[in-house]
Amino acid sequence: MLDDRMHVVIIGGGFGGIATAKGLADAPVRITLVDRRNHHLFQPLLYLVATAGLAPADIAHPIRSILADQSNATVLLGEVSDIDPDEHRVQFADGAHVHYDHLVLATGTRHSYFGHGEWEQYAPGLKTVEDAIEIRRRLLLAFERAERTDDADERRAQLTFVVVGGGPTGVETAGAIAEIAFKTLTKEFRSIDPSSAQVILLEAASRILGTYPDKLAVKAARQLGDLGVDVRTGVTVTDIGYRTPNSCRRRSMTGRMCCRLTRARRYSRR
Ligand SMILES: Cc1cc2nc3c(=O)[nH]c(=O)nc-3n(C[C@H](O)[C@H](O)[C@H](O)COP(=O)(O)OP(=O)(O)OC[C@H]3O[C@@H](n4cnc5c(N)ncnc54)[C@H](O)[C@@H]3O)c2cc1C
Repeated sequence: MLDDRMHVVIIGGGFGGIATAKGLADAPVRITLVDRRNHHLFQPLLYLVATAGLAPADIAHPIRSILADQSNATVLLGEVSDIDPDEHRVQFADGAHVHYDHLVLATGTRHSYFGHGEWEQYAPGLKTVEDAIEIRRRLLLAFERAERTDDADERRAQLTFVVVGGGPTGVETAGAIAEIAFKTLTKEFRSIDPSSAQVILLEAASRILGTYPDKLAVKAARQLGDLGVDVRTGVTVTDIGYRTPNSCRRRSMTGRMCCRLTRARRYSRR
């Protein structure tokens, strides 16, 4: 039987795409939701996967099962590579295509390095499960490497974690690393004391959590201080690179990598 309902194609199964599909559950339309991944990702908790507090499956749910009970919605797995608005056509990377009457683009955003795209090689963004697993791998490996080395400088470097950016994700991540180092792992190593780690949070503005009320930012800074995070505000990172002998002395930051900084001021822990 010919289906004469309007065809709504939604690209993206994130919060935006799923909410749009659900909002049209009772509308006289047929919906095709396309995503290149088979899962909807709860990005706000990615930092907990990156710091080994949650497993990837805890924050990723199959899009197909989310929309299983919605009879007017079909889910397709596919990477959209092009859109032809004249032909009302969505093109897939594998050569297939679908036609639409109405198109919703809910493809999300990419992370930004504020004009320093070259920093991505040192620190991946945090947008996908793969990003989170890579950060978790690097974090846990640092403790393992510290355990195996006899070199005090190398050990200190491995146990120095620098988070650049005191927005919500930076604050959460720094706090979670501190919890791992100062609470979770304290009894699990023999050669190193994980609680000797340094967790440093750098923020260019005069306070962390710039988009939140001052009172909350002060409270968060105090809680981070209590957790053992060294919060430094008014510090702009201008360069990041691998450490070479003496370079860190000049550049004033510890770790296997070092950052060139302008003015460093410690956040007062009231
Ligand atoms: C680490 C982190 C913490 C956050 N914390 C919070 C928080 O505490 N509170 C809050 O309100 N917000 C938070 N956010 C922001 C919030 O998660 C995003 O605003 C929200 O996920 C955006 O939803 P979206 O649907 O626009 O995009 P997304 O959730 O990114 O979804 C986009 C979808 O489109 C798909 N897609 C993209 N391109 C294509 C293509 N070419 N073909 C097929 N599919 C494609 C992707 O696979 C993805 O599934 C956080 C974000 C991050 C990264």
